[in-house]
Amino acid sequence: MKETRSEALSAGRAVLAIVLIAFFVELLIMQFLPYLGYAHHDTLLFSILDAAILSLVIALPIYWLVLSPINQEYVKRLKAEDQAEEMTHMAITDPLTRIMNRRGITVGLLDAMAQAERYHMPLTIAMADIDHFKEINDTFGHQAGDRVLKDIAALLADALRMPDKVGRYGGEEFLIVLPHTGLVPGRKIVERIRASVSKTSFDLGAKKTRLTISIGVTQFKPGEDLEQLMSHADRALYDAKKGGRNLVVARKSR
Ligand code: GH3
Ligand code: MG
Ligand code: MG
Repeated sequence: MKETRSEALSAGRAVLAIVLIAFFVELLIMQFLPYLGYAHHDTLLFSILDAAILSLVIALPIYWLVLSPINQEYVKRLKAEDQAEEMTHMAITDPLTRIMNRRGITVGLLDAMAQAERYHMPLTIAMADIDHFKEINDTFGHQAGDRVLKDIAALLADALRMPDKVGRYGGEEFLIVLPHTGLVPGRKIVERIRASVSKTSFDLGAKKTRLTISIGVTQFKPGEDLEQLMSHADRALYDAKKGGRNLVVARKSR
């Protein structure tokens, strides 16, 4: 894209240069004609007008043949690039909550795993699941449930800082990725999130409701693959549910 922009710019500069050169060359020739023995009776004003008209006659076909097609090509490429960007964004974004979807957060996690492995940095992940979410749907309706999902996603996204990531992993499950973070600080971060959710009153239009989340946390161990890492987080989440919900359970990978 930048290439096309600079092509268009340099074509524009070339046309402008041709116009100016044609203008001044003709002006000069006209001024020197009498010295070369040719009769030239135009005033300076007429010479300038003459030169301006000639340079326009030269510039217009150049614009029409060179600059205009380059500009059209540039606009076409710009649109195609915007569409491609939009499609990539849509492919990794959850349409309901506007945070990353399962594909997006999985790519983010794989990248974080590769970085942790390569630079020997800690990496902690957490799987959060809304407690008794089915009851919210059953009591207040699916639309209210959707609204809660949006609010929880926004709360999670707000609670995290760069380079942390969060994505909607499944229906009412959210995966949190905490690069450069060990299990102890990672646990503290998600504990803060759990507490904040439990204190929040979720707006359901006419009504409000309280809810809780359970979170399973685990630290990445170098050499582990995605499936192994996720299974530790799932297991920790399962233990948090079994432990009574509204709970964070950390599980060391072994
Ligand atoms: P638990 O505490 O064990 O997690 O109980 P739960 O009710 O949250 O778990 P369960 O897996 O039984 O139910 C999950 C519910 O999430 C069921 C499903 O209808 C709801 N759900 C999943 N995706 C969506 C969604 O996009 N919108 C709404 N409104 N509900 C959803
Ligand atoms: Mg649930
Ligand atoms: Mg669930």
